[in-house]
Amino acid sequence: MAAYLLQHSEGSLLIDCGPTILASLNRHGLSAEPVDAVLISHFHGDHLAGLPFLFLHCMYIEPRSRPLKIVGPPEVENRVMTIFRSMYADTAGEPLPFALEFIEVKPQEQIVLNGVKVDAFHALHQENPPSLGFKISAEDRKLVYTGDCGWTEELFGHTQNADLFLCECSFFETRYETHLDYPRIAENAGRFGAKRIVLTHLGQEVLSRQAEVALEMASDGLVIDL
Ligand SMILES: [Zn+2]
Ligand SMILES: [Zn+2]
Repeated sequence: MAAYLLQHSEGSLLIDCGPTILASLNRHGLSAEPVDAVLISHFHGDHLAGLPFLFLHCMYIEPRSRPLKIVGPPEVENRVMTIFRSMYADTAGEPLPFALEFIEVKPQEQIVLNGVKVDAFHALHQENPPSLGFKISAEDRKLVYTGDCGWTEELFGHTQNADLFLCECSFFETRYETHLDYPRIAENAGRFGAKRIVLTHLGQEVLSRQAEVALEMASDGLVIDL
């Protein structure tokens, strides 16, 4: 389940919103209240199915009135609202007490959210609409997130000088067109030009061979200062 909370001097944003997001925030004593925007990399449930729970949380647990921005690939509004209606038809049929502002981004496009620059790039995962990875810059720091992404040499162009490269690593022995595997990441680790690489979205193959993994692996609740 993918979700990363980015706290910066002007606010907070969520990068992906997997279904266990609220339990994770609770477990680590964090609030969803400061979140102004949610970036959605692509339309798989492990990356966006937490949004309906977040909406309900913003209605009943930490009531909000200011808008919540949802940024994602084309069709983001339709995809998110379809899930919301499926899960909570009654609530989704009424106006929310806060505005949802949907913003579509395509690869090569940039948006600025509360002083945070977000450059989207094409991640080899889903097409029509395309999955996104994000280059995120704030306060002279650069974070690169693959989302879910197959192997492509283009990654090296995005990750140079990143202070943090959050790199999906779904597989170990299996090579998959639309996900990354540990051996190829490890062989090319120096070519990314990133100051710190943290593997995330760890699949069962990787978890069962952790002793062979030399790169840093993320775990739930990991806090990184940039
Ligand atoms: Zn996916
Ligand atoms: Zn995924």
